[in-house]
Amino acid sequence: MSARSGTQLVLLGTAGGAATYPVRGAGAVARSGIASALVVGGRVHLVDAGQGVTRQLTFADVGRQGPAHALSPLRAVYLTHLHSDHTMDLVNLLHCGYVQGWPDDGPVDIYGPGPRSALPGVPPPGPDERRVGADLGTTGFVGRLIDAFAADFDDRVSASHRAEPSTLVAAHDVLPPAGTPDLSEGVPSVEPWLVAESDDVRVTATLVDHGEMLPALGYRFDTAEGSVVFSGDTSPSPNLVRLAQGADVLVHEVIAARYAEWQFGPRPLTDRQERAAATVMAKHTASDQVGAIAAAAGVRTLVLTHLVPASVPSEHWREAVRGFDGEIVVGEDLLAIDLGR
Ligand SMILES: [Zn+2]
Repeated sequence: MSARSGTQLVLLGTAGGAATYPVRGAGAVARSGIASALVVGGRVHLVDAGQGVTRQLTFADVGRQGPAHALSPLRAVYLTHLHSDHTMDLVNLLHCGYVQGWPDDGPVDIYGPGPRSALPGVPPPGPDERRVGADLGTTGFVGRLIDAFAADFDDRVSASHRAEPSTLVAAHDVLPPAGTPDLSEGVPSVEPWLVAESDDVRVTATLVDHGEMLPALGYRFDTAEGSVVFSGDTSPSPNLVRLAQGADVLVHEVIAARYAEWQFGPRPLTDRQERAAATVMAKHTASDQVGAIAAAAGVRTLVLTHLVPASVPSEHWREAVRGFDGEIVVGEDLLAIDLGR
C-alpha cells in the first residue's frame, strides 16, 4: 500500500491523566495516553506524546511501510503543555525512532511551551510552594531527556554509527509574541500567532487556560483539505474559541461533569477529595460545557478526547454534550477521520 496522500486525523491515544484505568466493562482494555496525529501528505504532525504514543504510531502505520518504518513519516511534534500525561512517551519515541527508523530528511521539529518565567507578569512561586526548581521550556525539557538517557544513547550512537540524537531533533520554545498583555490577572485575550509554516500546513497557536500550568497552548493546523484545532488542556477558553473559528474539526479535551463521583466514588467525599476534585474541574472543560464552545467557534465536527477519567464508558460522553448541533465524535484510540470528505 502507498502512503496516504490526503489529510487525516488519527487519534492515537484518548486518555487524559493516568492512562492505566481499564474502561469499565471492557476487561483489561485501557485507553492510551493523549496523543493525536495529523497526517498531511503522508507526513505526521504529532500533537502530544502521552503514554503509549510510540506503540500507537506503530499500530497506525500511517506511512503503510510496515512496523519497522512506522516512525519514518514523523515530521514534527507539538506539545500543548508539559504535564506528564502529554509528554510521558516522548523519550520513548526518540529512542525507538533512533533505533528503528527516524526520518532521514532533516531533524524532527519539537514545538512546545517555552519556560514559564518567560511569560510577562507571571508571579514567581510563593515561599510556601514546593518547587523542583528548574524552569524548563520545551528546549530544556528535550535536552534533559537526552542527557538523562546518555548511557543508552551513547551506546546506540556507537553501535549504529549514526549522528548524535541531539542533531536529529530541533526543539523550539513556543511563546506568545512580544507585547502580549501580562498574565498577572490570568490568561489574557490574545490573537493567534504563527508557529510554523510549510508548503502544505500552517500552524498557529494561542494561550489556553489550564490553571497553574503556564504556558498551555492550543494549536490550529490549516491545510488544503481543511483545518483542525487541538484545544490542549483548558477550561472553557475564549482564546480557543477565537483560534477555532470556522475550523472543520475541533479536537477538544473533556472531563466528566460528575468527575468527583467517577474518581472517588459516591458522595459524601472527604474534604481533601472535594478540594482536589474542584481544583481539577477548574482547569478542564466539563462534558456539558464543551458543546457551547464548539457552537461558538462554528466548527463542523467536535471530537472529544483527553477523556477524564478514562474509565468512563464511551456512551456517556456523547450523551453529556449540550448545545452543539454539528457532528460529535467520541474519541477512540486509532480512530481516523479524513478531512476533505
Ligand atoms: Zn494538563
